[in-house]
Amino acid sequence: MAKRIYLSSPTMHGEELQFVNEAFDTNWVAPLGPHVNAFEKELAAYVNTGHAAALSAGTAAIHMALKLAGVKAGDTVFASTLTFSATCNPICYEGAKPVFIDAEPDTWNMSPDALRRAFEKYPQTKVVIAANLYGVPAKLNEILEICEEYGAILIEDAAESLGATYKGKQTGTFGKYGIFSFNGNKIITTSGGGMLVSESEEDMNKARFLATQAREPERHYEHKEIGYNYRMSNVLAGIGRGQLLHLDEHIAKKKAIYMAYKDAFAEIPAITMNPYDESCMEPNYWLSCITIDADSSVKPLDIMVLLEKENIESRPIWKPMHLQPVFADCDYFSHYEDGSSVSEDVFNRGVCLPSDIKNTPEEMAKIIEMIKGLFA
Ligand SMILES: *Cc1c(COP(=O)(O)O)cnc(C)c1O
Repeated sequence: MAKRIYLSSPTMHGEELQFVNEAFDTNWVAPLGPHVNAFEKELAAYVNTGHAAALSAGTAAIHMALKLAGVKAGDTVFASTLTFSATCNPICYEGAKPVFIDAEPDTWNMSPDALRRAFEKYPQTKVVIAANLYGVPAKLNEILEICEEYGAILIEDAAESLGATYKGKQTGTFGKYGIFSFNGNKIITTSGGGMLVSESEEDMNKARFLATQAREPERHYEHKEIGYNYRMSNVLAGIGRGQLLHLDEHIAKKKAIYMAYKDAFAEIPAITMNPYDESCMEPNYWLSCITIDADSSVKPLDIMVLLEKENIESRPIWKPMHLQPVFADCDYFSHYEDGSSVSEDVFNRGVCLPSDIKNTPEEMAKIIEMIKGLFA
């Protein structure tokens, strides 16, 4: 069997292990320590925001953001429908109810039109969580404007988009709170981990407090609130510090993969790359995806089956949340007023292509030739 080619797998460089060794040598093998503090500072500096709290997962960061935003049981929270389930699961941890917002065709992210209609029906909604899918920024200024109009807090799920910018500003820093993920498949990884960011030092201190079992500053264990065990380990923060040194290099390689696909598929009119607005966005190109014209005889499954035969990983587009059985009773607003859905269309016609930065030019050429062959 040929060597497995992945969608996106971890890429280590060497500095990671040096930082981990430092943690062992100093016995900072704990859910706090100098690497955690340094990783928070370095990440905050990279995205140019005030403060960061290193947590055990991106999902934990979303949960903390929702708590800081004041989400309570019975509240409505607007969430992107075209995303991974971790964007909205924490809404349910708090007993609140997600209402799903369709994607728009220009970036596949939250539709400002659908969001506006959702606010018209649920004007009391106080929190919106928008994802930047596959590393492409959402129409963040438009979304932010609508949130401000209704006095709602924006939480930006930038789990997939670390390093991407919108009008020169880093994703994750548009909302009151932003979150990043360092899961194994993300653009940089700590094996597992996440980061919550905000301009508010007070809020980030509160997040660290809640994430450390809400231990009051007493000699004995004193608790006035329900806490969580959500802090990032100092060992894993060491991996993160090493990875952050290579984030720009990872983005450049991801971009080269996207452009290789884009150039190659330019001659196949039935294929379209996942879109972004070149005039104001620079994605991190985390995953390269395509959609196939509905009238083509080639279907997404044909590509996935063909690649799998050569041990090459590909994947359907994330299945929209409003189609998930677990969220069947949640309300949903489509991009088009006639009810037709952008997210469903992208899901039906799309494929995520291998976007691993360790792919060689030969491997990329092979993948491209295989896909092109289907359309011959
Ligand atoms: C990966 C991901 C998350 C969750 O991050 P974890 O670190 O795996 O908990 C949240 N949202 C999106 C859009 C993701 O892709």
